Amino acid sequence: MKRKKCFFGLKVDRQVDGDRMNGGAMAKVLAEGGQAAAISACMQCGTCSGGCTNIDRMDVSPRKLILMLQRGDWESVLKSNTLWLCSSCYICTSRCPRGVRPSDVIEAAKAIAISEGIENDATRFHEIFVELVQKRGILFEPELMQKYGGLKAMVDQAPLGIQLALKGKLSPLPASVKNPDQFHDALEKRKRTRTHNPDLS
Ligand code: SF4
Ligand code: SF4
Repeated sequence: MKRKKCFFGLKVDRQVDGDRMNGGAMAKVLAEGGQAAAISACMQCGTCSGGCTNIDRMDVSPRKLILMLQRGDWESVLKSNTLWLCSSCYICTSRCPRGVRPSDVIEAAKAIAISEGIENDATRFHEIFVELVQKRGILFEPELMQKYGGLKAMVDQAPLGIQLALKGKLSPLPASVKNPDQFHDALEKRKRTRTHNPDLS
């Protein structure tokens, strides 16, 4: 389909129109951890997308995701695989000329998607990852592999795992943090803080 264009050849889907800004959607993201983000300041320059390390696999560019949020198009934001393919490398945030902080915005949108019950492979991976880190404070990768991909994934990844273990990059046995009690106290404190003030991230 031929895209409509406005003045100066600017594509309509890049157009920031103040009267379509959706304060509610932006406030939701800001409350979920994007406090420092300046979503409404985005001028759709595309610098974030130009430097994004995972853009080739995303269905929506970081630039367009910010535009969707400005317009309050939550459905499209939550459906987008961009939330789950962003690797939080922060290149977009370091290059954005308007201080929008797309990486923080994506992290916040991801947390909202999970709290709204969105389920896919990525959310399952995140849940298992968090559960295992909370258990010992240090991730034991073979356990993650087994819980996420089952026995087949473990067998498939075994040659790589052995190579990494031989080079000292992967522990063959589960390890724990030095002071597990202190670690679990800190986790509990964090959970209580979030329960009492859900606006904190
Ligand atoms: S670099 Fe910043 S201002 Fe430019 S499109 Fe991305 S978020 Fe918007
Ligand atoms: S933080 Fe995410 S959106 Fe930003 S450049 Fe990295 S992968 Fe792309």
